[in-house]
Amino acid sequence: MENSIDAGASSINVRLKDAGKTYIQVVDDGHGMTENDARLCFERHATSKISEANDLFAIRTMGFRGEALASIAAISEVTLKTRSAKEEVGTQLRVSGSRVLSQEPESCPVGTNLVIRNLFFNVPARRKFLKSEQTELRHVIHEFNHVAMAYPEIEFQLIHNNTQVFHLPAANLKQRISGIFGKNSHQNLIPLESETTIVTIRGFIGKAEHAKKTYGEQYLFVNNRFMKHPYFHKAIMQAYEHILPADYYPSYFLFFEVKPDHIDINIHPTKTEIKFEDERSIWQILSAAVKEAIGKHNLSPSLDFDNEGVIDIPVLGRNQEVRPPGETINPRYNPFEQDEQQSTFQGWKNKPVDPNWQQLYQPNRNEDLTPGLGFDEKSDAQEQNGQKYMQLKNKYVLAPVKSGLMVIDQRRAHERILYEKNMESIRQNASVSQHTLFPETIELNAADYELCKELMDDITLLGFDIRDFGNNSVVVNSIPAGTQIQNCRMILEELLEQYKNMKSQLSIDQYERLARSAATAAAIPYGRQLDQKEMRELVDQLFGCSDPNHTPSGRKILNIINLEEIEKYLA
Ligand code: ADP
Ligand code: MG
Repeated sequence: MENSIDAGASSINVRLKDAGKTYIQVVDDGHGMTENDARLCFERHATSKISEANDLFAIRTMGFRGEALASIAAISEVTLKTRSAKEEVGTQLRVSGSRVLSQEPESCPVGTNLVIRNLFFNVPARRKFLKSEQTELRHVIHEFNHVAMAYPEIEFQLIHNNTQVFHLPAANLKQRISGIFGKNSHQNLIPLESETTIVTIRGFIGKAEHAKKTYGEQYLFVNNRFMKHPYFHKAIMQAYEHILPADYYPSYFLFFEVKPDHIDINIHPTKTEIKFEDERSIWQILSAAVKEAIGKHNLSPSLDFDNEGVIDIPVLGRNQEVRPPGETINPRYNPFEQDEQQSTFQGWKNKPVDPNWQQLYQPNRNEDLTPGLGFDEKSDAQEQNGQKYMQLKNKYVLAPVKSGLMVIDQRRAHERILYEKNMESIRQNASVSQHTLFPETIELNAADYELCKELMDDITLLGFDIRDFGNNSVVVNSIPAGTQIQNCRMILEELLEQYKNMKSQLSIDQYERLARSAATAAAIPYGRQLDQKEMRELVDQLFGCSDPNHTPSGRKILNIINLEEIEKYLA
C-alpha cells in the first residue's frame, strides 16, 4: 500500500484470503514500473527513491530502503503485473523464494498489481508463528487503517475472503474517519490546527463527552506516516485532564508536519516509533493546541458542513445547561442488589466466606494500649445493625478492626472478587449470567470486532452470551451475573481493551487473561456510593477470596492504619 501511494495511485484495492496467509493482492492505478524496473524492484536496496546522498535527509516518501519487496519475495510466491504509462505493454514477473521464475510481456492497465501467495511457504518454522486468522486480520486492519487515514484523498478497498471489509471513497479527513469508525463518529470531532515554525499540527480531537473507556481511536501521524508516540499521547491526555473522568480516552487523529531532517524514523524497525529533535517544544505546542480546540468547541459548537446535506445546528436555549462530561450511569443501579434473596455475585459460590476473617487482622496483642476499650469485641449481630463501614470519597471502604482502621480500595476489591468468580466459572464451565431485557446490538470497530469473534467461545465461559451479527456488530443477549446490565457496551469494550493490553504479558495464559480483563471491565468504579449492606457484602466477599490483599495484577487492595499510628497522630 505504501508503495502504491509512492507511485501516485488514486485508488488502491487490497484483497486477502485467510487473513493474508494464502493470498494478498494489492492493485493500484499508480505510475507503474517499466520492464526493467519490474525486474529490479525485487533486488535488495533496489529503491528508486534515493538518487543522491542528500536525498537521504529529505525523504518524504513512505519507503526508502528498498527492502520490502525483496523481503516479501524471499518468503512467498509473488506475481507482479505492472505497466508504466510510458510503455504500450506491461510486464508479468513471477518470483518464488527470491528466484525469478519468469518474466514476460503482459497486457495490463497502467499501474501495479502485486499478488503474494503462501506467505512463509519456505520457512515453515516462521509460518507456524502466524496467529489465528482473526488475529492476523486484526493486524491487517490496523495497518490498513493507518494508511487509509493518512490519505483520505485516495480511494481504498479491503476485501477479505470475498467479503468487503472497507470501501472508502476519496474524501476529506473527517469523512474518512467516519468511513473507518462509523457514520456517527463525525459528530464527535473537534477540528484542531496549529502552525508554528517547528511543527504544523492539524486534524481532529474527540469531544470529552464522547471519550471511551477503551483505547483504540488514537492516531498520530508525522509527515503522513503513522507513529506511536507515548510522550505526545501524554501531552494530549494532560490537556483533557480536568474534563475527563479517570481511565477515559478521548479519540484523536492528529497529523504533524515537520522538516524531514528533524525526525529520526529509523530507531524502530517498523518505523512507528519516531524521535523528534524538538520534542519538548512540540509538547508545549501540542498541549496548547488541544486545550485551545477544546475551549473553542465548548464556546461554540461547530457547524458541520462536511457531512453532505446534514448540518447539525445545535439549538442552544437561553438557559442551556452546560453538561459536564461523564459516564452515563443509572444512578439507581445497585451492583449489589439482591435478586430474590440471591447474592448478586451468583456465580460466586465456590468458597464459603470465613465468618472470622477479622481474626486474620488480629493485632499483635495490644490490649494494654487500650485498657478497658473492648469495643471491637462486640458481637457481629450488633455491628451489622449499627454503622460499621464507612465510605471515603466514594472510593475507599473503611472498617474498624481490632488492630486499627482497615482501608479497602472498593474497585480493586471488586476486581479480585470478580476475577476469582471468573476463574471458577471457567474452571467449572458453569457460569451464571443475567439476560438483558432487550438484546443489545453493539457496533465495534473492525479490529475489535475481529478480536471479539476470536474470543467469543471463551467469553461465553464467563457468562456472556454474545452473537456475531455481521457488519462489525455483535448482539449481547446476556452478561455475567453481578455486572451492570446498563453498561453492556462499556463492559464489552473495556474487556476487549484490557485483553489487548495484557496481550504483551506472555506469561499469562488465555483464560487467566480473559478472567482478569472481564474483572477489570466490570468492577465497580470509583465514585460509586455504596450503602452499609453493599459495603458489608463487598468486604465479606473479599475475605472469601484466596488472596484478599492483592488484585490479580498484584496491586494492594487494603491496608490497616494501626492504633499506634492513630495514637501518634493525636499525640
Ligand atoms: P522502497 O519502497 O523502500 O523503495 P520497496 O522494496 O518497497 O522499497 O520497493 C522497491 C521499488 O519498487 C520502489 O522504490 C519502487 O521503485 C518500485 N515499486 C514498488 N511497488 C511499486 C508500485 N506499486 N508502483 C510503482 N513502483 C513500485
Ligand atoms: Mg516500499
